[in-house]
Amino acid sequence: MRTLYRILLLFSLLPAVAAAQSADDELVRIKELIPDIVLDVKYATTDNFTHQKLYTIGDAMLARGAVRQLQLVQDSLRKMGLGLKIYDGYRPRAIQFLMWEIVPDPTYVADPNTGSNHNRGAAVDLSLVDRATGKELAMPTPFDWFGPEAGHGWLLGLSAEQVANRTLLKTMMEHVGGFASYDSEWWHYTHNPSLANPLLDFQMK
Ligand SMILES: [Zn+2]
Repeated sequence: MRTLYRILLLFSLLPAVAAAQSADDELVRIKELIPDIVLDVKYATTDNFTHQKLYTIGDAMLARGAVRQLQLVQDSLRKMGLGLKIYDGYRPRAIQFLMWEIVPDPTYVADPNTGSNHNRGAAVDLSLVDRATGKELAMPTPFDWFGPEAGHGWLLGLSAEQVANRTLLKTMMEHVGGFASYDSEWWHYTHNPSLANPLLDFQMK
């Protein structure tokens, strides 16, 4: 009887587990779950390497599972008087083709034929801000700097503060959020469980 009860209990739990998994894949607005996060979506302005406005709105989306992890990072940073600032999250695949035409270098722009993890809502570009002033902390380079200075290992010409801020972001994202860093870009992080998501191509509205 006990075994039968366990089996019945297991079956009654299965639909809930399946629903939770599909909800993690779903793309959501980051602000929806983290209202105090700062958005500075560069591709919704001309202030990016293409000098074109690529997005119609300055919003950022990610897979729900990734946003939940970002929430943990933001919660920890808040206690330190800091917060996250988002440059980019989900990116439509059509935009990836446009970027590739301008910079066909796989170190800095993912080949649209294989797709970017941004197209899956699994990658996020971000920095740190001081909550009191709203100002970005000093980092080694601006966002989308296409050179070795953007890499995690770069030290030449950097102040101790720039190195410490880059390290703080990396430590929080990896150890609190469980994200993976990318050697060539200090601002780019991946939520590995969301890599199973398909490449998407809808415009944010
Ligand atoms: Zn990125």
